[in-house]
Amino acid sequence: MKVAPNKKKILVNGNKAVAWGAVTAGLNYLAHYPGSPVNFVDQEVKAINKEYDLNIIINDSLNEHVSVLAAAGASFSGARSLVVMKHVGLNIAADPLNYIGYTGVKGGMVIVVGTDPGANSSTGEEDVHWYVPQFNFPLLEPTSIQEIYTFVQEGFRISEEFEIPVMIFLPGRLCYNYSFIEVPESFEPLEKKFYFTKDREKYINVGARAVANHKKLVEKVQKISQSLQLYKRFFNPNSQFGIMTRGLAFGSTYEAIKVLGIEDEVDLLNFDLVYPASEKLVEDFFHGKNEVVFIEDQDGFLESHIKTEFFNSIQSKIYGKNIFPKWGELQYDQVLDFLASKFHKTIEKNEVSEFDQTVPERLGTFCEGCPHTASYYSIHTAIKGKDAIIGGDIGCSSLPPFRADWLLCMNAGIGISQGMAQVLDKQVVISTGGDGSFFHAGLISLLNAVHNKIDLIHIIFDNSTIAMTGHQAPPAHGSFDYHGLLKSMGVDRVIEVWTYKPDTFIKLLEYEMDKKGVRVFLVKGQCIRIPNNYIENRIKTLAPEINNDLCNGCSKCYTELACPAIINLAEDGQNLKIDLNHCVRCGTCNEVCPNGAITIHQTVTV
Ligand code: SF4
Ligand code: SF4
Ligand code: SF4
Repeated sequence: MKVAPNKKKILVNGNKAVAWGAVTAGLNYLAHYPGSPVNFVDQEVKAINKEYDLNIIINDSLNEHVSVLAAAGASFSGARSLVVMKHVGLNIAADPLNYIGYTGVKGGMVIVVGTDPGANSSTGEEDVHWYVPQFNFPLLEPTSIQEIYTFVQEGFRISEEFEIPVMIFLPGRLCYNYSFIEVPESFEPLEKKFYFTKDREKYINVGARAVANHKKLVEKVQKISQSLQLYKRFFNPNSQFGIMTRGLAFGSTYEAIKVLGIEDEVDLLNFDLVYPASEKLVEDFFHGKNEVVFIEDQDGFLESHIKTEFFNSIQSKIYGKNIFPKWGELQYDQVLDFLASKFHKTIEKNEVSEFDQTVPERLGTFCEGCPHTASYYSIHTAIKGKDAIIGGDIGCSSLPPFRADWLLCMNAGIGISQGMAQVLDKQVVISTGGDGSFFHAGLISLLNAVHNKIDLIHIIFDNSTIAMTGHQAPPAHGSFDYHGLLKSMGVDRVIEVWTYKPDTFIKLLEYEMDKKGVRVFLVKGQCIRIPNNYIENRIKTLAPEINNDLCNGCSKCYTELACPAIINLAEDGQNLKIDLNHCVRCGTCNEVCPNGAITIHQTVTV
């Protein structure tokens, strides 16, 4: 007889709750691609794996497409697999996800997707709910940290019962919130007894077999809709006014109802299982309702899904997205205002509510001494006076939005620049991107440029880490042969530069701008946020200083290089100083000053 393990209380954020939920469910395999707001799940899984010696196998994937395929392979072989990515990554993973429902899974497969209403850490707030009926996977949406922990476990259970992948969507707000959860104090060691059983009817999907398997998937989802109910229902079930919610809208709605004291006047239903909605639950809820309002963020998936699936059996007036916006994060005040007006209540608000205050826009910036600061200084200096355009890409290199001329999605730098380079006669096109983005899909884009003989310059910032999402290890490190790789792809010229020597970089870039062929700059310079002896020694031994007697106010260091460690003390005009508490002594300001006004003193002799 197994003895239930003792429990301990731990404080976790949403990322950690996913990890603990998966491990508690008996996770065997994790495949992930980092991206905010779910960029720390893997780190917690790795930490638990190490602490409890669990044998969980990790695939630090280079993009979401391969992540899903690898997890499917593990799951086909009987392993419980977890896939983690952010919402935009779901676009990359969509191809295999369209067909994994056809094959079904063996070991439970849970796909956690971090969403970003309000685009707090993304280039867009795409509503990925629309993928769900296309993939035909059940979708769970937790409303609290505790629910993240339990829903991940529930996801594995549903996945194995119905042999189908289960999706879990987590908005950024929830991923970074904290709460206590109770987790086991110990885990049974996981045995690796996996086996792939050949079954061509199931795993070879083509022609009539694909159609037959698609039919089975649709029937499976209908069965889930008929047999599975996961929901929360509060207040007055006999009320004629119904409210349906999902995800974070539930908390705002519940609180607004309490604050307004309208508990007797409403019936609140939250869908924990958002797709497929339970037939019985929906029909019971609508019974006797005059009106039902949907309160949810983004495009209004739930409203659309219920209207589409149950249009024959609904007599009530239903609405939602004609009241609440499709853009941005749904705010508590919007829900409160709507319900107050609906039930003729007066709200007493503080004179200036949190949501009435306008927050000044702050542009992103690089860290002090960041290698990208020096790189962009060189690029902008080299193109001065030329009709040149710069393609940006996702990652730290895109932080200040004024450095590039476009920023869209992963690999939009090298991808978009190809079309431009092919149609533009006079303008010089230079694309940029980090090493993480290069291996995500930039590699194939660059090969495409070679294949199509497109004249372009692409700049790879090799900062030895995938910095923006939490400093994950890059695929190319140590003795990795970038030159060999790029040459074997057919790149015409590979030019390696050290970012902290802008003069050399500028001259080489100016030279290459007039040339033809596929030219790749490999810009070396390690992210200063990863432990680095070179920088640490410089901080201990050097101190740059601006001599204002020699400074002629050209502003190259302050405005063009724009290192945040260079500060202006004058309220009017310019009186520059280097803030040594933040300066990392990279030396770039000294290199760019045309008047020798920035000196680097040796403070300690080594
Ligand atoms: S040395 Fe100059 S450029 Fe480098 S971090 Fe310090 S102030 Fe900034
Ligand atoms: S984390 Fe690293 S790469 Fe990102 S801005 Fe800071 S120094 Fe630059
Ligand atoms: S680059 Fe040199 S001369 Fe120009 S503002 Fe900075 S310190 Fe002064």
